[in-house]
Amino acid sequence: MSLAVDRSRIESLVRNAIRQSGLATAAPSVGSAGQQPLGWVDGKPNLRVSISARHCHLTDEHVEILFGRGSVLEPDKDLYQDGFYAAKQTVMVVGPRKRMLPSVRVLGPTRGASQVELALTDSISLGINAPVRHSGKIDGTPGCVLVGPAGSVQLEQGVIRAARHVHMNYADAEYYGVSNGDMMQLSVRSPDCSVSFEDVLVRADEAAKLEVHIDTDEGNACNLDAATSVELKKSGCACQH
Ligand SMILES: [Zn+2]
Repeated sequence: MSLAVDRSRIESLVRNAIRQSGLATAAPSVGSAGQQPLGWVDGKPNLRVSISARHCHLTDEHVEILFGRGSVLEPDKDLYQDGFYAAKQTVMVVGPRKRMLPSVRVLGPTRGASQVELALTDSISLGINAPVRHSGKIDGTPGCVLVGPAGSVQLEQGVIRAARHVHMNYADAEYYGVSNGDMMQLSVRSPDCSVSFEDVLVRADEAAKLEVHIDTDEGNACNLDAATSVELKKSGCACQH
């Protein structure tokens, strides 16, 4: 009997034993390796903090208006979250009094509503008072004009400052003792400018990998590139008192 057969037989015996003992829990999000949850390294969540620079999301219809009939988003760079990408395309975002940001990256895939996500500094330079909102919650937010090589679109609403948030799968959520919609605290230790961010919203999804998204102002405030450690904690837990 070869070693490979031996091992698969042992695995199957162990699986059966676990099933019979009732130890098996609801299937967690499992990575492609099949051994640990998506994004985990060495049996632990692998916290990643990323700066989400100003960008926009577009509907299929707006892609065609801005880039020409029959146009689709062309993936340029994959984002850390599987299935999401920075497109080759950019748009010009125009605010009131003709102030504008000339080249704002489009992220894909397309969505049901177009949306522009800015840092506070961007929104000041555009002259748009963009409220802090969670992605997709754009009712009553200001609009702008988007200009592409083939046309322009007047957005009636959708300009926001994206609220800081953390993507995670259900195994990550269990590890931190949080659920979708909870708030967490992110501590970034950096030489001379450590920052603790409150109000980090948990966005749990089966297919997500553990990743905090902050905007460029937040990333610059804590000099994220020079950070020596990052830590994520559940907000309001007893250990803070
Ligand atoms: Zn995000």
